[in-house]
Amino acid sequence: MSTINTDVLIIGAGPVGLFQIFELGLLNIHAHIVDALPQVGGQCAELYPEKPIYDIPACPEIMAQQLIDNLMLQIAPFDADFHLHQLVTDLRTLENGRFEVTTSKGTIFNTATIVLAAGLGPFQPRRLRLQGVDKFEGQQINYKVADKASYTGKRLAILGGGDSALDWVLELAEYCEHIDLVHRREQYRAQPASVNKMRELIQQGKVTEHHGNASGLIHSGDNLSGLQLRSNDGEEKALDINSILVFWGLTPNLGPIADWGLEIEKRQVPVDTEKFQTKIPGIFAVGDINTYPGKKKLILSGFHEAALAAFAIQAQLNPDQKVRLQYTTTSPVIHQRLGLKVIKKLEI
Ligand SMILES: Cc1cc2nc3c(=O)[nH]c(=O)nc-3n(C[C@H](O)[C@H](O)[C@H](O)COP(=O)(O)OP(=O)(O)OC[C@H]3O[C@@H](n4cnc5c(N)ncnc54)[C@H](O)[C@@H]3O)c2cc1C
Repeated sequence: MSTINTDVLIIGAGPVGLFQIFELGLLNIHAHIVDALPQVGGQCAELYPEKPIYDIPACPEIMAQQLIDNLMLQIAPFDADFHLHQLVTDLRTLENGRFEVTTSKGTIFNTATIVLAAGLGPFQPRRLRLQGVDKFEGQQINYKVADKASYTGKRLAILGGGDSALDWVLELAEYCEHIDLVHRREQYRAQPASVNKMRELIQQGKVTEHHGNASGLIHSGDNLSGLQLRSNDGEEKALDINSILVFWGLTPNLGPIADWGLEIEKRQVPVDTEKFQTKIPGIFAVGDINTYPGKKKLILSGFHEAALAAFAIQAQLNPDQKVRLQYTTTSPVIHQRLGLKVIKKLEI
């Protein structure tokens, strides 16, 4: 794969990483952006898409996913390049002061500057915490489905009660000999249509539903042969299964960021409050990932940080150019960058 050369690479497509595209775009700087998740929106989209937010300026109430959709509309004129579903694994400083950044998909960036907008770090699947689980992970216990056909003829336990768990019950029912669905309570957090389809599979004898918690693994040596369950009324039972899929959602973790030579303070990266630059010149940090005296982990703080970081990046990329603050209301140059002339022409 050939190396992508860029002026700016943004790591993290949460609300702040997305707004960073906008602030850079106003200054005529194009960006590439990477995120480990398959979709943009960070915590807003992954953890609370349908919860209303009340402290975004001039939006008395906005659903978290709507905020992300609006940001995507707002940054559209700047045509950033998105590289989703790939974790940034390595970052190293080159001799010429630029940076080489590598992702889990093998994409390599050679970039003049980096904006770390990595929030709380990449989200990892919430793990099953039972004795002996380590030796079966990646084998008979998994947190994602890599190959549906590999479940052919399996007796599978699916743990979870959200959309992922239910979607995979429906998807894998035709492959598996039988599926045991284990959820801690009777109500599911999934789409009602999926719950109804799952109940049809129960009627057909393809799926059995259990309410309680996994309490132990049953195995002989390297072979997982069952799952011990404790029901909500304290009863123990053993499920005859040979595969487990766990869909308990995702949890953030600093992950590879800890190995990039950045200063880290309580899982955050210290920055100055003029440029939001880290101790490594050319690497900026905005949003939940950074820390400074008085830091508040709020979306609106991240938006402010992104604006100042953009000006600092502009100054670094073009040291001989004086950067003028221009209002979006009145600047013809900004209107052109936003494509407003084109829109006005179409309206006429
Ligand atoms: C339930 C809940 C309610 C909240 N309510 C509010 C509220 O009302 N108002 C408010 O202002 N804030 C609220 N917040 C906080 C708000 O969501 C965060 O401040 C905001 O999401 C931070 O945005 P961010 O872009 O900095 O990081 P994030 O949203 O965390 O996004 C970071 C992104 O970086 C990606 N990433 C990290 N490391 C890597 C890597 N190595 N490679 C590739 N990608 C990587 C992650 O996958 C993620 O998508 C709430 C948070 C929660 C959990």
